[in-house]
Amino acid sequence: MDLEAVLEKIDGSRADIVKEMVDMIRIPAIAPVNGGRGEGERADHLVSRLQGYDSIERIDVPDDTDPSVTRPNILARKNGKEEGTVWIVAHMDTVPVGDLDDWESPPFEPRIENGRIYGRGTEDNGQAVISSMFASKFIEGKDLKKRSIGIAYVADEETTSAMGIAYLLDRGYFSEKDVFIVPDWGSPGGKHIEVAEKNLIWLNFEVSGRSTHGSTPDKGVNALRASSHLIVELEKEFAKEFPGCDPMFMPPRSTFEPTRSIATVENVNTVPGYHEFSMDIRLLPEYDMDDVVITARRAASCISEKYGADISVVEIQRHRSGRQSSTEDPAYLALRDSVKYVTGSEPTSVGVGGATCANFFRAKGYNAYVWETGGGTLHTPNEYVVIEDIVTDAKVFATLFYKLCV
Ligand SMILES: [Zn+2]
Repeated sequence: MDLEAVLEKIDGSRADIVKEMVDMIRIPAIAPVNGGRGEGERADHLVSRLQGYDSIERIDVPDDTDPSVTRPNILARKNGKEEGTVWIVAHMDTVPVGDLDDWESPPFEPRIENGRIYGRGTEDNGQAVISSMFASKFIEGKDLKKRSIGIAYVADEETTSAMGIAYLLDRGYFSEKDVFIVPDWGSPGGKHIEVAEKNLIWLNFEVSGRSTHGSTPDKGVNALRASSHLIVELEKEFAKEFPGCDPMFMPPRSTFEPTRSIATVENVNTVPGYHEFSMDIRLLPEYDMDDVVITARRAASCISEKYGADISVVEIQRHRSGRQSSTEDPAYLALRDSVKYVTGSEPTSVGVGGATCANFFRAKGYNAYVWETGGGTLHTPNEYVVIEDIVTDAKVFATLFYKLCV
């Protein structure tokens, strides 16, 4: 079958695409640490739906919080004649549903309306699971004169990836000759290919003062006041130390956001003796995360001195961003040209503050490209995917397979 025939087949598969999505979303795949049973049942179902592959390998990893659960990873291949595999990497797990009252219809009973499929995990990352399934479905193994086609359905992306992509990378399931496409972030019309991510660091600020009656503030140290001044001081200091701007990134600067805050006191007439808040920091790759901690501690000691509160700065987690993926690599050019061929417009390369599986590949020195169409409802109630976007993505990936594998 030539490429045009394959694209026509995908175009004619809308009803099947919807059915595959709906059948999959009905099977929850939430991590045990988030109150779920993992991806096992969903993986069983998907393996039964992957037909015409030369090999399907399943790698079950014991869950680190609940040993009675295994976290499955699926690697399906259609073998080419040359070394290397063009992988589409999609994750099977989803985040929990949140408050059920915020959903207009049950999150695991997909609803189809206005060309959209609503349900938990439809966009994140069901879109990629189904688009890669249909991108590879109509291409026959015997036509693969070059690289192999690979579909990787992985576990544990929404928590640590330790039982998913990180596990597979550490155990040598991938090679230098492979190409990695991670459709886990999208843009309207697929106009951007994500080639870089920012460093991520989360800090917690624990502010201890001294509680007293609201009418006698001089007898205490108001922790909430110290916290508030600290937030302002942090903003000033971070802006001074990390002013860099890289127009490739969206947004182009490092971001320092105060996010979580604990409740203080229950009544209005007590001065709070303790307060704590957290910051989500996305740092341009040019900067060192150690310098963020140093700056935060300096701001904390300045405020501590001024207001008499004890302040400790605790690191919650950090992830170093891997090297930016090359925009001259043949894989990038092939993806760019495939997007242009299917959508009619040439995508541009961007960096983002979010974090995907792609960073694990980049951290190991591989190029990895993040691309899909649309998106933006992930992790929210009433998450949905646009059916047409799945069709577009499947056609782009099929075109890419033709360029690199056939
Ligand atoms: Zn995702």
